[in-house]
Amino acid sequence: MKILIINSGSSSIKFQLIEMPSETLICSGLVERIGYDDAIINYKTKGDSLNQTHNIKTHREGLNKIVELLLDAEKGVIANTNEINIVGHRVVHGGNSFSNTTLITSEVKEKIQEYAALAPLHNPGNLEGIFVSEEIFPMAKQVAIFDTAFHQTIPEKVKKYAIPNELYENHGIQVYGFHGTSHQYVSNKAIAYLGLETSKIITIHLGNGCSMTAVKDGKSIDTSLGFTPSNGLVMGSRSGDIDHAIIFHLVNNLKYTLNEVKTLLTNKSGMLGLTGHMDLRDIVEEAENGNAECQLALAISTYRIKKYIGAYIAAMNGVDAIVFTAGIGENSPTIRKLSCEDLEVFGIDLDDAKNKSGSRDLREINTAKSKVKLLVIPTNEELEIAKQAYELVN
Ligand code: ADP
Repeated sequence: MKILIINSGSSSIKFQLIEMPSETLICSGLVERIGYDDAIINYKTKGDSLNQTHNIKTHREGLNKIVELLLDAEKGVIANTNEINIVGHRVVHGGNSFSNTTLITSEVKEKIQEYAALAPLHNPGNLEGIFVSEEIFPMAKQVAIFDTAFHQTIPEKVKKYAIPNELYENHGIQVYGFHGTSHQYVSNKAIAYLGLETSKIITIHLGNGCSMTAVKDGKSIDTSLGFTPSNGLVMGSRSGDIDHAIIFHLVNNLKYTLNEVKTLLTNKSGMLGLTGHMDLRDIVEEAENGNAECQLALAISTYRIKKYIGAYIAAMNGVDAIVFTAGIGENSPTIRKLSCEDLEVFGIDLDDAKNKSGSRDLREINTAKSKVKLLVIPTNEELEIAKQAYELVN
């Protein structure tokens, strides 16, 4: 059975075609800069890869280009669009309506539209991907997998903000949490690897967006992103936790407009605001060359991670394993080292040599005497989506 996974963002579409249940990756790729004359398409099959530049104005054109490549006489991997049995769509915000993977109906689409108010950068692109895919693959089952679903197990004492009840009850203002598919995938991998029956795992997803989750017995019980993907850890260009009164100060006294504040905290803060760089590789290199601003930014961001480690150990009354994942978590020994430093009180002890060894596989980076397992587990949100879609349809 062939499952096409689509992650349709505001200006990009990522895709993977996966054969299930063998979990074989058939091809993958990315259309970036949708809306521009020089949109970029990247397409990889087992033996081949290509990069093309095209004028792609809409998601519809982007998805049509992807289908052209899938069907291409030379580089293609299918002969007919009907070979795609399921299209699995990543949807960022499912509010409280979806705690599981769901077949897409008109009611589901209405809900995704409704939650666009809470995820304006993500849900509209996700929905557009669904509409176009329904036209291109009329025979396929369309399935939605929500980033928020894994966090629906978070208890009320954690998900309620201390603001008037009416805002929670009538307007759904609460913690939802994000990156759920990634936290679910890597925590399941850790539990299977360690062979635990009961488990306390902290998962740390560090990409452009960053979040941490406390996973007790396979269920999310707390997570660092909240009502929107804004708070918690220091991210590429998002501030994470700040005192909300800063916003009033910016508006009332420094005369920012609300839109300017939003842009400031979403697109100009985080590592970018602290250093002028967003790519962590540049920041680490500058820090190693003595750049004090970059050194401080690394200290600020990893201090925040340590605070959440402490908080989640308290929340679960212990921890069996801490998992690092996503672009930075999988690839940056520097961030992992700084995040685990001076935590002997919890029995956390990183092995420097193992931490530096690069590998694409699940690996342990703790010393033999560490009470807590420290793991690097490459995330694979697309595979998790394929698995959930396959289980749902079968
Ligand atoms: P997203 O899916 O949120 O866009 P990714 O999980 O792909 O993000 O992570 C992107 C981040 O990973 C970038 O900040 C990049 O700097 C960082 N990254 C990728 N490779 C490395 C590496 N070898 N060392 C340090 N950071 C890396």
